[in-house]
Amino acid sequence: MAKTIHDTPMLDELEKGPWPSFISGFKRLRDEHPDERINAMAGDLLGQLEHSYETRKGYWKGGTVSVFGYGGGIIPRFSEVAAAFPESKEFHTLRVQPPAGNFYTTDMLNQLADSWEKHGSGLVTFHGQTGNIMFIGTTTENTQHFFDEINEYGWDLGGAGPCVRTAMSCVGAARCEQSCANENAIQRHLVNTFTDDVHRPALPYKFKFKVSGCPNDCVNSIERSDFAVIGTWADDMKVNQDAVKEFIEKKGRSYVIDNVITRCPTNAISLKDDDTIEVDNPNCVRCMHCLNVMPKALGPGDDKGVTVLIGGKRTLKIGDLMGTFIVPFMRLNTAEDYERIVEIASESIDFFAENALEHERTGEMIERIGLVNFLEGIGIDVDPNMVNSPRQSSYVRMDGWDEEAEKWFQRKLEEKAAG
Ligand code: SF4
Repeated sequence: MAKTIHDTPMLDELEKGPWPSFISGFKRLRDEHPDERINAMAGDLLGQLEHSYETRKGYWKGGTVSVFGYGGGIIPRFSEVAAAFPESKEFHTLRVQPPAGNFYTTDMLNQLADSWEKHGSGLVTFHGQTGNIMFIGTTTENTQHFFDEINEYGWDLGGAGPCVRTAMSCVGAARCEQSCANENAIQRHLVNTFTDDVHRPALPYKFKFKVSGCPNDCVNSIERSDFAVIGTWADDMKVNQDAVKEFIEKKGRSYVIDNVITRCPTNAISLKDDDTIEVDNPNCVRCMHCLNVMPKALGPGDDKGVTVLIGGKRTLKIGDLMGTFIVPFMRLNTAEDYERIVEIASESIDFFAENALEHERTGEMIERIGLVNFLEGIGIDVDPNMVNSPRQSSYVRMDGWDEEAEKWFQRKLEEKAAG
């Protein structure tokens, strides 16, 4: 298989400048990789890309490519200019689910890279916007071979199309002191339960899970997932006054006032004359700012759990939506707790499957039908702690909500009376 070296004056421009260039990477595959098949594929890929730049047109078209037993997970790419660039005429992408928290061993990575160099182009993205490992560039035939091989040693395809998509969780407690939940366990519970819904696209549109261990929300779950699980705490923030004093000695009082105290969105934190910090916990909205600036002095409380939000996505047809609290706080300490979160997810997906219009995400569906109806549909009682934007818009304020608020007060009274 002979490689063709196409002239690429426009692409060459992209190698100039201070940043690593993907064009240099393609050229290394073309010129230095020991496998002639990969040299040829990369050569024609560069040729087609230059042609696209010249003509300002894309030449990849979709189609249907799948592996046995699966309805998704492959992004088919067939070239419309295959006659001129035959070696890259089929250049499909496989989405492969990463481990929770993206923890890999080098052995695993080497094994994956070896399989991909055997069956694909050698190009990989860790990780695509969807959270998947993207294996970019293989033929229809090799799609099956590559999948069979990696599946044999434990990897599975991710979601593509109208289905439950590949989930993501942050790196979590293993490397982060702010973690309030076992992110990786939550992700595994959700993914393992909905594997069939990942592989067989049967929903009105995509449905994404993302799990963040604390309100810093490093996987952007609040705006990038239909079902966001975010770690938080219910008791008081921990304050280590010795570490506060140490911090002040190093940085000065005015630094703390300018960078911590005055930046609190709810004025919930104050610095006393004796260089101690006081937190007005009921008014702290867990924005995480003060904890991030003073991680040794301030930390999440001991009563940890998660908040579940639904319907986030930017940008939707109706604009940007942040996730909406449907469970303000739940502890995840026992197997039953994990079962409960899976149950809420399952109810949400079933309701979405039955009630959403085609090409409508959960957030849009809820906007259309009303949150009360959605909550009723998934069997969750309305709670005034369900807020859209903290401190700005409690749902319980008008119209049908007054009735729901009344029910909530009634429930609380009954709970109190029952002891
Ligand atoms: Fe204020 Fe945010 Fe710190 Fe809470 S976490 S006290 S809201 S700065």
